[in-house]
Parts: sequence; structure tokens; C-alpha cells
Amino acid sequence: MIRSIENTSAVQLDTRASETDMIHRLVAQHDSPLMILDCDVVRRQYRALQAALPNVVLHFALKPMPHPAVVSTLLQEGAYFDLATNGEVDLVKSVGVPADRTIQTHPIKRDSDIRHALDYGCNTFVVDNLNELEKFIAHKDQAELLVRLSFRNADAYADLSKKFGCSSEQAFEIISRAFELGIRIRGLSFHVGSQTMDPQKYVSAIASCAKLIQQVADAGLPALSTLDIGGGFPVDYDGSLQPIDEFCAPIREVMTTLPDTLKVIAEPGRFIVAPAAINVCSVMGQAQRDGKTWYYMDDGIYGSFSGNVFDHGNYPMDAIKWHGERYPSVLAGPTCDSIDVIAEEIMLPKLNNGDMVVSRMMGAYSTVTATDFNFFKRAEVVAINQVIEQLAVAGL
Ligand SMILES: *Cc1c(COP(=O)(O)O)cnc(C)c1O
Repeated sequence: MIRSIENTSAVQLDTRASETDMIHRLVAQHDSPLMILDCDVVRRQYRALQAALPNVVLHFALKPMPHPAVVSTLLQEGAYFDLATNGEVDLVKSVGVPADRTIQTHPIKRDSDIRHALDYGCNTFVVDNLNELEKFIAHKDQAELLVRLSFRNADAYADLSKKFGCSSEQAFEIISRAFELGIRIRGLSFHVGSQTMDPQKYVSAIASCAKLIQQVADAGLPALSTLDIGGGFPVDYDGSLQPIDEFCAPIREVMTTLPDTLKVIAEPGRFIVAPAAINVCSVMGQAQRDGKTWYYMDDGIYGSFSGNVFDHGNYPMDAIKWHGERYPSVLAGPTCDSIDVIAEEIMLPKLNNGDMVVSRMMGAYSTVTATDFNFFKRAEVVAINQVIEQLAVAGL
């Protein structure tokens, strides 16, 4: 089901009118389709999560929206960064992020990837197997490692523990072997799965890690100083989710049982950027089929709506022209492929060619997986409300 706006208050009407003005202005300037990235929302999300997890050092995972405006906005907020690829290293470097504010968390790396991060000055890495551990014999003077554990979560949008992470027993073996090899292990990490709706997944993972940290200490191995609780924090796509502060309450509680000396960090991606971008696309043409109006848009499944395929995407969307009677409609993408349909069950007013549709909550895992299929150009990402200031102001 696609949500649309029916009962709109006077204040919302006002906001809507000024948003519509902004959209028209930006499309006139940059053309359709467009992703409008609001840095004010990035800031709001970062502050909300930091307030919900006050003792956790937040490392923004670039993967869902690797955009320089997001990085510089978060740097101004005092954030840290979670990198997984050489391209992400290059991006934070180009924005001027100090390397000691970054970690490299891809569990599987080529030696050239390790060197690329080390050359920048990022020296915390993640391993989840002995083969990967041995890659660090050559870098043991510079690198420190987190050992990634696996906690399966079939309910998440992406069950990242299917592909990565090891058991507690394997982690103990890796930590023991690292000690023999003279490689420093800084701590443990996990990712409970993207868009995790149940905070107990974090609670039980944190409890398992606490047990392993104690076992390591009991065995006389060097103490683990860091626990990385990963990403996965959920956003409200359909109006059903509790506020993040409430969601994090059980996580705050289990954290009170951890040793005071343990530094806890996290790697939120989706939570920071999902609500921060809207997509604007336009009607290229239309046809009547089986009693419905099909609107062929200039963005689709092979573009910004690739999250419909890769990320369970189901974004709230509506026409900009939103008054008037509504009819059963289909929104299709521009390519010549028949799977390129954005929404089959949507009630829309009668639209003309050139009219625009706005989709919300599209900041995470949308443009990053877009393609150039059929040579349709990808939506440009345009940042608004970016504060351009000297980083010295933020004390960095
Ligand atoms: C994708 C990813 C993240 C971000 O996850 P979200 O669910 O978007 O918060 C964090 N850490 C790692 C290692 C990842 O692969």
C-alpha cells in the first residue's frame, strides 16, 4: 500500500506550499529527476541517535548515501566515520575528515585495500576469520583489529550476519592466534541486520559479547577495550515505529552491565540518512491499461527506486498536484523493461505530462544502487541547508 496525504492541517499546507516552491525552483535549476538531500534532517537524525545512545561514539557508515554534504555535515556535528572501501576512504579524505575519526570495517580486504586505508591514517580494521587475520602480520605495527561476530536476524532488511561474522568460539580462536602473532585486537563488533525492528537483537548480541570479553580476560589474553554494536537502527517508513529514544531504551539498559573501561561505538547508516532525501520525478507520458492510468516517469526501478529491488523499498509517495479526485494509477519507470514499475496500487489525481511526483524517506540505499540502464540519467543529488563553515569553528 502506498500512503498518501489526505487530511492536511493548515500548518502542513503552509509547509507543503513552501516545499513545492523549493522543488519547482530546484527542478528548474537541475532538471528532473532529482534527489533533494536536506542536511538539516541529517543533523536532526544524528542528534536524535546520539541523545538516545549518549555513551556511544557514532561512526556514520557511508554505504547508504556516500555524499560529501552528508560527510561534512556530520563532521561539523563531531561524528566519526565507518568506511568499507577505497572509494569511501577517498571521499572522507577529500572532505578533510581526520583519519583518526575513521574505522575500516569490511571483513574481507585485499592487501591493497588495507594499505590504502593505512596510507590515509585509518588503522582500525575488522576480521572474522583466520585467513583475514594473517593478512595483518605484515601490518601489525600499525593496525588494530575488531573481531566481527555473527548474530543471525531473518527479520532484518539485510541479514548481514549471513555473509559476515563468526561464532564466539571462532572469535576466541582468532583472538588467541592474534596474540601468538603479535597482532593487536582492540575489541569485538557485530551488525544485527539493517532496519532491525526489535531492540532485543542488540541486547542479546551485547550480552554475548560481554561474555566473550570476560572469557578473553579470564584466559589472560590482552583486555579488549572496544565493543562496536554496528548499524541497523530502524527508521519509520510506514508510521508504525516507536521513536528512536524508546527503541534504544533496552540497549541503554544492557550497556549499564558492561565494564566502565569498555568503549562502545556504533556504525549507523540508514538511520542518519533515510529521512533526509526526497525524490522528485516527472511524467514523461501516459496510457490507459486495464482501467488504470499508467504514468511513465523519468526515474524508476533501475534508478532511484532500485531500493524496491535491493532494499524492500516502499516509500511514501504522492503527486505534487495533490487536490482533486483520485483514480487508480500505476507509476512506471522510463526503461523499456516491464519489471520497471515503481507502484502498481496508487491513487493519484489526473496528472499531465511534466507533472511531478514526490517520494519520501529515500536517503538510504536508493541512488547508491541505481544504474544507467537504457542510458536514462541517474537523478542528481542536490544538497540543501548545508552549513558551509570552516572546520576550525567546530573545533576540529
Ligand atoms: C551497511 C553497514 C552498516 C550500516 O548499516 P545500517 O543498517 O544502514 O545502519 C554499518 N556497518 C557495516 C559493517 C555495514 O556493512
